[in-house]
Amino acid sequence: MPKILVVEDEKHIVELVSYALQKEGYEVLATRDGDRALEMVRTKQPDLVILDIMLPGTDGLTVCRLMRQDDQTQDIPVIILSARSQELDRVLGLELGADDYITKPFSVRELVARVKARLRRSPTVRGHRRPLRLGELMINPDRLTVETAGRREQLTRTEFELLWLLAANPGKVFTRDLLLEQVWGYHFGGDSRTVDVHIRHIRQKLGRLPGSLQYIETVRGVGYRFREMS
Ligand code: CA
Repeated sequence: MPKILVVEDEKHIVELVSYALQKEGYEVLATRDGDRALEMVRTKQPDLVILDIMLPGTDGLTVCRLMRQDDQTQDIPVIILSARSQELDRVLGLELGADDYITKPFSVRELVARVKARLRRSPTVRGHRRPLRLGELMINPDRLTVETAGRREQLTRTEFELLWLLAANPGKVFTRDLLLEQVWGYHFGGDSRTVDVHIRHIRQKLGRLPGSLQYIETVRGVGYRFREMS
């Protein structure tokens, strides 16, 4: 049973979200405090964190950043909850390594759909669990890593799903909308910046590997594709 940590100081939201998630068969843990949240991600190892931004104690953005810097918590999916007026916080949340965000007020159905999408393994990976080798590069679905000889970079689950989809189809162009649908489970369009920020983070990690090529190519005005290797 996947375990979900809800970090939120508004009691009615915690109750609403917990009820909906428990009905779907998830185990729900909750806290209203950012410092307690940091402790719980380490000790309870949740499968996913739903994270409000404005919290007593350490704020949600800091919680997200610190989670991404810690080996034990860096690949746990994070969905940010933010008020509609906090446009900058949403973008910053993605920059700091959040996987997705939901704007308050939100529909509980939408939140459950986002959670399911984040916890779902991509169809490609389900059918093919062996590492994918592309030239010097190896993408490892068990470790969620990209590797070349002697060097390894850890991906978040969402970065992994995105890279895997592109790399399993070298040369195929994916529009941002298609990526939002396939990786994030959006069926009615999401924010294309979500895709762009994740692509940038993957490129930064690939760029730290020795002898790394520009593996992910931008197709201007359309989307992205993984470089075809000869
Ligand atoms: Ca709050």
